Amino acid sequence: MRRALNGTCPDCGQGKLFQGKIALVDQCEHCGLDIARYNAGDGPATLLIFVYGALIVPLAFVLEVLVAPPLWVHALVWGLVMLAATLVSLRVIKAIIVAKQFEFQTPET
Ligand SMILES: [Zn+2]
Repeated sequence: MRRALNGTCPDCGQGKLFQGKIALVDQCEHCGLDIARYNAGDGPATLLIFVYGALIVPLAFVLEVLVAPPLWVHALVWGLVMLAATLVSLRVIKAIIVAKQFEFQTPET
């Protein structure tokens, strides 16, 4: 879990797991682990859609009942909240899924 949170190789904990923001490296630069074997696919995005959807939709209803803002305010506020939450957590969720695939040795292929 610590290695996933740091975005490092699930095997050695030294090499980088990501190249750029969310793209995985093909191979660990430190231990040579074939990280391309492990692919989270759409799992992180799907998980975040369910979690943030379950959190944000009720909040939007509460805002509508309490303040009743115009629809463009809902689109702006919740769009930005969803975008920020996704950008913050997508990398971590992806690293956790790859780490769990490594832990249980269940690569994509
Ligand atoms: Zn490594």
